[in-house]
Amino acid sequence: MRPPTAQTEQPNTPAGTDDALIQIEDRLRWARAQLEPELEQRFIDGAADPAATRVLVEAGFLGLTLPSRYAGLGQDYRTLGAVCASLGRLDLSFQITVTVHLALAAMTILQWGTDRQRSRWLPSLASGDEIGTFALTEPGAGSDVAAIRTRATTGAGGFVLTGEKTWISGANDSSLLLVFATIDPKLRHRGITAFLVSRDAAGVSTPALSGKLGIRAGDTGGVVLDNVFVPSENLLGRVGEGFAIALSALGYGLFTVGYGALGIIRECLSLVVTLVQSDARSRRHATDQTVRAKIAAMVADEASAQVLLDRAAELKNRGRPSQQATSLAKWTAARGADRAATLAMQMAQDLHSPSLATFERHLRNAKGATIYGGTNEIHQVMQAAYATGDRLDHPPRRPTLTAAELAGETRGNTTHAG
Ligand SMILES: Cc1cc2nc3c(=O)[nH]c(=O)nc-3n(C[C@H](O)[C@H](O)[C@H](O)COP(=O)(O)OP(=O)(O)OC[C@H]3O[C@@H](n4cnc5c(N)ncnc54)[C@H](O)[C@@H]3O)c2cc1C
Repeated sequence: MRPPTAQTEQPNTPAGTDDALIQIEDRLRWARAQLEPELEQRFIDGAADPAATRVLVEAGFLGLTLPSRYAGLGQDYRTLGAVCASLGRLDLSFQITVTVHLALAAMTILQWGTDRQRSRWLPSLASGDEIGTFALTEPGAGSDVAAIRTRATTGAGGFVLTGEKTWISGANDSSLLLVFATIDPKLRHRGITAFLVSRDAAGVSTPALSGKLGIRAGDTGGVVLDNVFVPSENLLGRVGEGFAIALSALGYGLFTVGYGALGIIRECLSLVVTLVQSDARSRRHATDQTVRAKIAAMVADEASAQVLLDRAAELKNRGRPSQQATSLAKWTAARGADRAATLAMQMAQDLHSPSLATFERHLRNAKGATIYGGTNEIHQVMQAAYATGDRLDHPPRRPTLTAAELAGETRGNTTHAG
């Protein structure tokens, strides 16, 4: 079965309009119908199914916010958020595919790439012919990004990369890796440099990572780079600019992670309400003060996450600084998802509900949302530092793209050549 828009060949409609939202809703309904039947089994199997990625490709979600001149749908950040929340309701692994491919890889190429790099990569990323991923974390460098050790040395016509990445979502399924390496570890963040690396390049291997607690239906692996030659034309941004590029990529990434977490809160709340209304015993249970407190906590968490995420989306749509707002929104949503799934599990246990396995899956997945895109503790530290004036955000050399620019209005940095 084809997605509704492909069947009727509807043209892409301007972001934020009623028609656009209806079109996205149609695509979501179609994707949900394809993905839902296998959900629990995929999680139990603990193996990613490339067919799920193809569903996201067919629905157009992997090019959702890319301008139409790059074969994307030109939608805005609100719509991206709505899609990620909807996928998060199903299973966070689907939202993560959108996060790493679109938010972390494609949007970063859109923001930082040369005209040549955009033309080379973005149409094939939008169509799903290429699947992108984001390789920053290393065995000794997670929260402390400046500690990366993957080394980039200059060679004839390009660079040679050697090192190891870990916990990379989509490592095995991807064909294009956005890799961060350092020209000199002693330079810390000033040495970090970004490269576009083909998964097929000689010296690249991606050992699988299995037995995860959560995101079990998602592909996660390592990336080993053994003297990998990267031509100069695949340098993204300038030498030493990789830290700024990684931060701006994470700005898109953790925004989508926050919406995915909101999806978990929403799904747990919805299932719990259905559960306590299902029979007389459950309805009596729902009048218990402690049960009411749990449901109320989920209602409050859903609303706060939604409001904060939508505020971040609006700032991004308008091209306003959004780092502080996005960090706060992601932190709030991830904490809320963890709590909602925990409370839902407790209630399902009390009521001997068959939904227990679903809540357990969401709880395990929610743990992931409290780690990637910056751990809860890191966002906590950041928020305090913003409040005390110890952390200030500096606008990057290349600004993030506004909703109008995503919709195709070429202005400002979208026409730069390098
Ligand atoms: C499912 C999953 C998918 C992922 N996908 C990707 C991906 O696609 N690409 C990628 O590059 N990475 C990915 N990651 C890695 C993720 O970004 C890192 O795990 C995360 O940044 C934390 O780094 P770490 O695991 O090294 O923990 P550490 O940084 O070692 O932290 C360990 C603990 O110490 C705390 N801590 C560390 N520093 C501080 C501090 N200064 N103040 C207070 N507390 C602190 C942390 O909060 C944490 O609790 C993924 C991780 C997971 C779990």
